[in-house]
Amino acid sequence: MSTNDVREVIVIGGAAAGYTAALYAARANMNPLVIEGVNWGGQLMITSDVENYPGYPGGVLGPEMMQDFRKQAERFGAEFVTDDVTKVDFSERPFRVWVGDDEYRAESVIVATGANARQLGLDSERTLQGRGVSYCAVCDAAFFRDKEVVVVGGGDSAMEEATFLAKFASKVTLVHRRDVFRASQIMTDRAKATERIEFVLDSVVEEVRGEGVVTGVVVRNVKTDERTELPADGLFVAIGHDPNTELFKGQLELDPETGYLVTRGKTTETNVPGVFAAGDVQDDVYRQAVTAAGSGCMAALDAERWLAAERGKLLDALAAPRS
Ligand code: NAP
Repeated sequence: MSTNDVREVIVIGGAAAGYTAALYAARANMNPLVIEGVNWGGQLMITSDVENYPGYPGGVLGPEMMQDFRKQAERFGAEFVTDDVTKVDFSERPFRVWVGDDEYRAESVIVATGANARQLGLDSERTLQGRGVSYCAVCDAAFFRDKEVVVVGGGDSAMEEATFLAKFASKVTLVHRRDVFRASQIMTDRAKATERIEFVLDSVVEEVRGEGVVTGVVVRNVKTDERTELPADGLFVAIGHDPNTELFKGQLELDPETGYLVTRGKTTETNVPGVFAAGDVQDDVYRQAVTAAGSGCMAALDAERWLAAERGKLLDALAAPRS
């Protein structure tokens, strides 16, 4: 693959949004290059069963679904670089994207670098990911019907996840490291009013117990240092998300508070014409595989239409009578 060609479109990021954008762009003959990242697949790679993606009535494993997405884009001619983008320059066209010393150029770019759920950083948490440790209650709550779960966090996500989980689980214990919640009053009140939710405050999770599946969560009270093991079949970590936008600081408009990429209205347009954003890197609200895929489709259509309009302008300029 020559790095000298100017591509019609480069997709940065290989997961639900990026592969869908690549599929649509490939089928529109835009010859997309997907710089998918070393850890392609994104958050679905730490998910086990996905039961809420339409079209898989029997459910599907997250990594398997990402392989299917990738294969489908490849079938229509998408090309892949399995490495991380190290630098971008969107200040002039063609846009430039680097992977180490290799420079790629394109008339349009779709950014789909996703976001990562923050992790507690425990070895036992990593070992039991997808085996009871989850970062998405909407995705996984139904697996915990009549079971006991622990939720960590004190923000709106933790309150929302605990309240949602209480519809399934027999008991939900919300563990927060302080005695004051960051969550809004209304979300806190709703969780407090929900039967089956108990609160363990001033406490941090120190270990997730279980051989193969989660059986308990060890918490330490930060004021007394007392350690307690809470019996649990699941641990839901709800301590926030970080969008992968480091590369784009100073190049694209980011939300000053959350760091997510800003897109215009109902489109995937960023503040730089010709650069589009799709998936969790620009969505701090829905964060679902299906919504990420949907916005990947939107980004490819937006890029295709934008390129057609740019070419139209060029042809008009060439056809205009010289004065
Ligand atoms: P957040 O507001 O940043 O809250 C993160 C929570 O996790 C905080 O309580 C924080 O504790 C705790 N935390 C962070 N790192 C931790 C660690 N290593 N160990 C233990 N606890 C840790 O994140 P969020 O709840 O995901 O919300 C993000 C944004 O989305 C917010 O603006 C929120 O309002 C919004 N949101 C809205 C809704 C809704 O309205 N329906 C639902 C979900 C989210 P400290 O408080 O001690 O820092």
